[in-house]
Amino acid sequence: MKSLWSEEEASGLSGLKQLVYQSRLVGADPSLVVWGGGNTSLKVIERDFRGRECRVLRVKGSGTDMKTIQREGFPGVLLDEVLPLLERTEIGDQEMVDYLNHCLVEPDAPRPSIETLLHAFLPHASVVHSHADAILSITNTQRPEALLSEAFGGRVVAVPYRRPGFLLSKEVAQAVERAPECRGVVLLNHGLITWGATPRDAYEGHIELVSR
Ligand code: ZN
Repeated sequence: MKSLWSEEEASGLSGLKQLVYQSRLVGADPSLVVWGGGNTSLKVIERDFRGRECRVLRVKGSGTDMKTIQREGFPGVLLDEVLPLLERTEIGDQEMVDYLNHCLVEPDAPRPSIETLLHAFLPHASVVHSHADAILSITNTQRPEALLSEAFGGRVVAVPYRRPGFLLSKEVAQAVERAPECRGVVLLNHGLITWGATPRDAYEGHIELVSR
């Protein structure tokens, strides 16, 4: 699998436009995501309605398709309102959705992805999550851990299957904290997460692991 990133096309783009560009590259490949699947994000500094600087997570809206996503497809979530959730031990899906609604930068924005906390809890600026066929072909087997270690060595950490939501997000954050040198997280029977300081880094990290 080859990186489709073109520095010529992307270099003049702002951070958010690079997020759109990156997401469309991921969305264009059906071996990474099918319609509506997967999600991407970027943490940026923005000004709120009173002009105060705040940390904002721009994350894919729920049910939006990445192949054709536009700037409006990325609702903004106030990161400093979301991060205290890491201290919680459990939050139900509905409570999580209601809570995130309170954290929206634009109150009428599309609902942020159900996997928003997964992006928020990782410290990296740019995060890409897909349901890559290549990764699932390893995890949907009788011995995923052995095959993962054969393919990736210590480059990725595996997190057992759990339905997307608060607990999975917290487990991913804890797994990365325990293995700070890893390049990605494999969600067993689910997909792959990579990250980077820029949308390009997170995308190319993803392509590199899927290729491998
Ligand atoms: Zn997913």
